[in-house]
Amino acid sequence: MDILITEELDAPAIQRLCAKYDVARDGALWKDPVKLQSALAGARAVMVRNQTQLTAGLLAAAPKLLAIGRVGVGLDNIDVAAASKLGVVVIAPLEANATSVAELAAGFLLALARKIPRADRSTKAGGWDRKGCTGVELDGKTLALCGLGRIGRKVALLARAFGMTTVVFDPYVKSTSPVLAETGATLAPTLDEALARADFVSVHSPLTPETRRMFNQAAFARMKPGSFFINTSRGGIVDEAALLAALRSGHLGGAALDVREKEPPAAKSGLEELDNVILAPHVGAFTVEAQTRTMEAVAADVDHVLSGAPAKNFVNMARPKR
Ligand code: NAD
Repeated sequence: MDILITEELDAPAIQRLCAKYDVARDGALWKDPVKLQSALAGARAVMVRNQTQLTAGLLAAAPKLLAIGRVGVGLDNIDVAAASKLGVVVIAPLEANATSVAELAAGFLLALARKIPRADRSTKAGGWDRKGCTGVELDGKTLALCGLGRIGRKVALLARAFGMTTVVFDPYVKSTSPVLAETGATLAPTLDEALARADFVSVHSPLTPETRRMFNQAAFARMKPGSFFINTSRGGIVDEAALLAALRSGHLGGAALDVREKEPPAAKSGLEELDNVILAPHVGAFTVEAQTRTMEAVAADVDHVLSGAPAKNFVNMARPKR
């Protein structure tokens, strides 16, 4: 087998790969690690979204594997260091969906500020609740961004257009970064300081051991009363029970989550019942444009590697042992 596809992927780019290569597709394979391991053992390339966990053990048991095509951004489901050691190139077009995710975050900013979901629900239910739908303006408010990478930068640019002031916590961004000048954002030395100043907080950092549950009870307590929390990054960065408590107590004004710790969530958490919470099923990159760009770029690079050429969108330095 040339290419194994372990999650739901369908696009003209995939059809073209199917016409050229021996492709095995099973959209549910990511759910079954035993079946996944045996299928991977014969594959020269694997294409995944964010659900398939490609651990060091699984990669070691895939002796023919040359390339991992990650259709999307966020590498927390792939052991990139193990792939590099094994000589497996990891392909991920990192810029391909930044605009879409940033626009979703901006949509959440507006939806929370203007209570758009509530206005929609109450009006469709026959109401005309103008007072209950009173919101706030974004103009003049402060947005804290956790992470000023590809997506964070675009959110900062959109926030500037709304007249917001942006403060950033990102320990890997220097005060001389041109992105600060471009976006008009300023750096906060600590997360606490950024949170204490913000009317809205939006998370755009990767899930790492450092960021896991970074938004916990203490972090929510640092946020201003009535402020809003947005996460389009990774669910594991947030302690959902602490978020729920901060919302139930009325300390936070609302929240919007595109991502959850477990996807889809195993059970209802209580967030679903809150009127000031917006939930989405991890759709940040689900636009026609982002899906097409990502799929085309990954499929082209898988084709390159399988035909002996280098990948363009590689994110590791795989030693060419294979
Ligand atoms: P990026 O690598 O360009 O930027 C991430 C930024 O986070 C970097 O500037 C980095 O310095 C910063 N960072 C790292 N550790 C940090 C920490 N401890 N505290 C604060 N900042 C920290 O990544 P990106 O393309 O902007 O994407 C960000 C994340 O968004 C991805 O890792 C992914 O998990 C998520 N994402 C979600 C969707 C979606 O569908 N909702 C789609 C794409 C990406």
